[in-house]
Amino acid sequence: MSEVTVVGAGPVGLAAALAARHHRLPVTVLEAHPEHRPRPGSRAIFVHRATLDLLDAIDPGLGRTIAHEGLVWRTRRTLWRGRPVHTRTYHGPADRIPFTSLPQTVVEDLLRTACHRAGAEICWDQPVTDIRTTPRAAELITAGGYCHRTRYVIAADGARSTLRTRLGIPLKGTTAPTGFAVADLTGEAGGLTPARVFHYRHPAAGGRNVLLVPFAGGWRVDVQCRDGQEAATWAATAARWLPDLLPGARPDDLSWSSAYRFHQKVAARFTDPHHRVLLAGEAAHLLPPFGARGMNSGIADAVAAARAIAEATPQALAGCARARRAAAHANVRAAASALAHLQAARPLRRTTQHAAALLAPRVARAGRWLDRAPFGPPLHTVHY
Ligand SMILES: Cc1cc2nc3c(=O)[nH]c(=O)nc-3n(C[C@H](O)[C@H](O)[C@H](O)COP(=O)(O)OP(=O)(O)OC[C@H]3O[C@@H](n4cnc5c(N)ncnc54)[C@H](O)[C@@H]3O)c2cc1C
Repeated sequence: MSEVTVVGAGPVGLAAALAARHHRLPVTVLEAHPEHRPRPGSRAIFVHRATLDLLDAIDPGLGRTIAHEGLVWRTRRTLWRGRPVHTRTYHGPADRIPFTSLPQTVVEDLLRTACHRAGAEICWDQPVTDIRTTPRAAELITAGGYCHRTRYVIAADGARSTLRTRLGIPLKGTTAPTGFAVADLTGEAGGLTPARVFHYRHPAAGGRNVLLVPFAGGWRVDVQCRDGQEAATWAATAARWLPDLLPGARPDDLSWSSAYRFHQKVAARFTDPHHRVLLAGEAAHLLPPFGARGMNSGIADAVAAARAIAEATPQALAGCARARRAAAHANVRAAASALAHLQAARPLRRTTQHAAALLAPRVARAGRWLDRAPFGPPLHTVHY
């Protein structure tokens, strides 16, 4: 019987396997797809300092390596209807960067290499189709009907988690009607200075809100649309509007586009009645990209799950499930506050935003609010 089995080799599953090895636990990862499966899009480009520290704690030097692979943009700019209203530049020390920005696939590659080095076994092409738990063990059934017995499972099998479904754990929460089109551009956009730009009511986007974020190797553009249908149309026509929203970009630079909605959903429980399984990452919660809480909080789930399994007491396992579920709810509240700001559905909020835009060039507080509010409360104020 194995000691720990992780299901899913996304960033959260790989971090869980690495954290298990940090506690000297033998670990096997079962991944549904082949090793070199396509992983389209930049996705979780923003890796917070706290995540880099967590990764350094389970594999010394890994956080630093990821930080060096990424890009640190030091300037944040806010515009209102084509007019700059606020600019902020970070002057902190280069060796203590607050985040790094790089494609999720690069983080996954570095995690996978670290897993191999640490002795975690990864079995590709092994979709798990069912799970049973008893007070002493868990049994995972893979596609060929093979039964894999293990003492503990970390379920990191993503948003459509088979394990969560088979354990009868519902996801509870909401999906906002507002849709977003997202597009990646490869290259430097004609040498544009890397800066995160939030543009309220962008004239070239028909008055929609637009977010531009540089990362190592490219730029990402998010356009806020009325609904999912409109977002799908915008995603399909990205090559046409990209040069208008990202000066210097050419239609040929477009490398990926898609549409997404704001999910704010949390699993009703993060463990089974026997405390043999802990849910982690998108198997446990669905959060919107704004605020960058998805992968970052998933890695925190993974590290906490491995620690609880190393302790191997029902109290530690139940406590981990409770604490991570509370963190997911805190993230959902933070996402709700970001969404309310982005939607500005109430006239009072729209008027307040407009007033802040008028004041921002002279009143720093107004500019800071416009700059921060689309992402929810700062991460260090939320137990993520
Ligand atoms: C457009 C977009 C932008 C985003 N931006 C950010 C951001 O800026 N910051 C951030 O933190 N997050 C962001 N996210 C979210 C981030 O991509 C996810 O949080 C992250 O991928 C979740 O990792 P995970 O390992 O939980 O799940 P996944 O990455 O989905 O990995 C799950 C793995 O499990 C495997 N699997 C599934 N079912 C089975 C099974 N039955 N058996 C075995 N294996 C299975 C899958 O093949 C996959 O490899 C973004 C997401 C999107 C879509």
